[in-house]
Amino acid sequence: GLQVKESNVDVLIVGAGPSGYMAAIWFAKLGINARIIDKRGTKVFTGQADGLQPRALEVFNSFGFAHRPAKEASVGFESCYYEPDPNGNIHKVARKVEGVVGISRFNGSVIHQGRIEQWFTDAIDEFSNNTLKVERPIIPESLVVDESKIQDQSAYPITVTVKKLSDEDATPEQFGHKLENGLYRQFAGDQEREFTHPPESREIIHAKYVLGTDGAHSWVRKQLGIVPEGESTDYIWGVLDIVPITNLPDIRKRCAIHSASNGSIMIIPRECDLVRFYIQLKETEREPEVGSSAGTQSRVDRSKITPEAILDRARKILHPYTLDVAETHWFTGYQIGQRVAPKFEKWERVFIAGDACHTHSPKAGQGMNISMMDTFNLAWKIAHVVQGKASPAILQTYEQERRQVAKDLIDYDFKLSRLFSGKPGTGEGTISTNEFRDFIDKGSAFTTGCTVDYDASVLVSKPMREDSSIKYASPLATQLFIGMRFPDNRLVMQCDGRPWFIHDKMPSDGRWRLLCFCGDFKSSPALAAQLVAVGDYFSSPKSFITKYTPTDERVDSVIELILVHASDANNVEWDDFPLAFRPRDRL
Ligand code: FAD
Repeated sequence: GLQVKESNVDVLIVGAGPSGYMAAIWFAKLGINARIIDKRGTKVFTGQADGLQPRALEVFNSFGFAHRPAKEASVGFESCYYEPDPNGNIHKVARKVEGVVGISRFNGSVIHQGRIEQWFTDAIDEFSNNTLKVERPIIPESLVVDESKIQDQSAYPITVTVKKLSDEDATPEQFGHKLENGLYRQFAGDQEREFTHPPESREIIHAKYVLGTDGAHSWVRKQLGIVPEGESTDYIWGVLDIVPITNLPDIRKRCAIHSASNGSIMIIPRECDLVRFYIQLKETEREPEVGSSAGTQSRVDRSKITPEAILDRARKILHPYTLDVAETHWFTGYQIGQRVAPKFEKWERVFIAGDACHTHSPKAGQGMNISMMDTFNLAWKIAHVVQGKASPAILQTYEQERRQVAKDLIDYDFKLSRLFSGKPGTGEGTISTNEFRDFIDKGSAFTTGCTVDYDASVLVSKPMREDSSIKYASPLATQLFIGMRFPDNRLVMQCDGRPWFIHDKMPSDGRWRLLCFCGDFKSSPALAAQLVAVGDYFSSPKSFITKYTPTDERVDSVIELILVHASDANNVEWDDFPLAFRPRDRL
């Protein structure tokens, strides 16, 4: 019979899409014993999600690979809006700045998911010394939790049995097309495809934590009995990646185009002269979750989704501009509803993240971003708990923080969908394209990902808010909003005179950072005295930094102190600062 291995692991990640990779990079960086499995035989090579928002790029930067999108991706600076004139021909009505000026040093960038997965793979290889690799093609068969052990941090309460698929079963169907496409895993029910060949091997894995980052039809989510809630319609999007030949002057800018009666199109310029066209094809009845009692599934007729059909629609929308194709790279029919899972975890041991928790249209370019930010939020917390550096109580902040973001996103997507898909006009049942542009303008800060504002919790110290639109500033540092990302301002370093973005001094390496703002201490004896007192405290054995830092580790290995002052550089030398704020050995 089959040999069955048995093993222990601290964290098992199921699914190596953007959210799984983001979890894996944290575990690699922090030296956690983790494994990541995926049922696909290979990583994604073309197509799928492509938009990277500024906040995601900041996070890539914090892991040291933001230079890769900077070199390879198409960076967005301008967007244009087209709508029909009285003769029904589209014409340009507005040209706008893409994103929000000054919110981040990064601009939204576009490149296909396969490259992003490659950057992650390279960084994970480096951080883990080639020990953390996506194991493919592997699929879980069962997940059992021993509830009597979930309070015990040294136990492995979760048992997952996995099997290695034969190569035949791991190769996705292309549904009759020669061209690479994304039709194979797009529709509900595909995930339940029968695997007809015997598995190559089985393994029983005992884990402390399991992450389900296994996409919209998440198997892990189903094991937890969590059923996503939301709209009862699904939209079908046609996506086409081509090198176009056209006389549309704004083809290398992002465009949103409403035609008089052929629907709308979104144009996204991409790497290597490629342009992506997004077209909403039609609505279908919701396909019920497998296992629910909501009746039989309505299947989408995939044979109707062809690159020619999508192109044909694009030509009609773009009329009187012409559209020809030099090269077609990829296409898909992308079926999606607007849904959020009511729970993101169970027992604070098994978590779901990314598309497993939320699905929505591709219009706001958020899917991959929000998915990656989910596990950016979650994985360091699990790592700190596994390493005994933090109480398991911090794990509850994951669902609290990220479910709100997911709900805000679905809300945004819901309104945007209506405006994007509506027929332009002034009569009943039509939408105003002015309102559409306004909505995008107002929403653009949200879509950068830089305005997320977490509520009060064991990690965020501020009053519980009643109105989520009110930001809570620190009473002393009034430009810092508690619960939000730290602004990436430029500061000149005292020692070398170099201007740095402050984020570059705060990489994602698992350390906590304490920033002290001492103002113009050279002109204020009171501030100078406070600075000395604070420095004395941090140098003393009773400081919490001393207390939480193991005696055999560097003094800044757990908490790093950063001092920001506002005195005239001509009057300050670095020995004006207390020792605690200078490079030093353990004191
Ligand atoms: P995914 O990227 O879906 O990753 C899930 C991973 O888990 C996959 O690698 C899958 O093989 C694996 N997996 C699933 N089930 C199991 C299992 N039982 N066992 C082991 N592994 C499993 N977004 C856009 O913004 N624009 C687009 O044009 C667009 N097109 C898309 C086309 C396709 C075909 C798909 C699937 C998604 C598309 N999306 C698009 C959505 C976007 O890709 C997702 O929002 C984003 O990838 C979410 O990341 P994720 O890691 O949560 O999930």
